[in-house]
Amino acid sequence: MMKDERWNGVYSFEDSPFIMEVLTELRDKETDSISFRKGLVKLGRYMGYELTKTMEFEKIKVETPLEETEGVVAKDRRNVVIITVLRAAIPLMEGLIKVFESARVGIISASRGKAPKFEIEMKYVKVPQITPEDTLIVADPMIATGSTLVKVLEEVKKYGTPKRTIVLGVLAAPEGIERIKKEHPEVEIFVTKIDRELNKKGYILPGLGDAGDRAFGAPIKVSMLPQMHTLD
Ligand code: URA
Repeated sequence: MMKDERWNGVYSFEDSPFIMEVLTELRDKETDSISFRKGLVKLGRYMGYELTKTMEFEKIKVETPLEETEGVVAKDRRNVVIITVLRAAIPLMEGLIKVFESARVGIISASRGKAPKFEIEMKYVKVPQITPEDTLIVADPMIATGSTLVKVLEEVKKYGTPKRTIVLGVLAAPEGIERIKKEHPEVEIFVTKIDRELNKKGYILPGLGDAGDRAFGAPIKVSMLPQMHTLD
């Protein structure tokens, strides 16, 4: 895990060859949906494991069949709320929940409109109560303009104040991190890597393309359906 000196509380995993190898597979345009989803699950699991290193542990006594010894309990690991930002965060959450198995899970659908406005539409919001003991992990693979996450973070604040708020993504653009840090300075950000920049359409460069489309297939417009299913 490496701290990025440009901001407070922003970390990447460029020092992890394993995480970098999974990222490389996700970036590759030849990677199909199945492998792409599996890659996101892997990243959720391994980034989640890395996150536990930043959590508080308590020393406890444990009885082995032979004698008493010292053990630890990772208390914070049991008090986790994961917010899944639809749709690309679904496989990421699947991996995270392997590490944080007792996590309560919130779902938020947030979609970003087209450039230059990038308006955010939040249609479905189901979030559990958040307590001061909780570590809140907001999972969203692509931190691009940051506008979706700024809105999502604003929304989840209504449900309580956690001990820590973490945004966990695959890739971030500097513009997105800047925006989140400006509006929500207390938030910690963990990504595999911080990429170079955004293009005019709001895609991260070099990036990995549209994470939702690559994981689940590109949706088609309802208006195109009659041409595709012609009835004779
Ligand atoms: N969302 C994506 O899926 N990819 C990007 O590059 C930016 C936003």
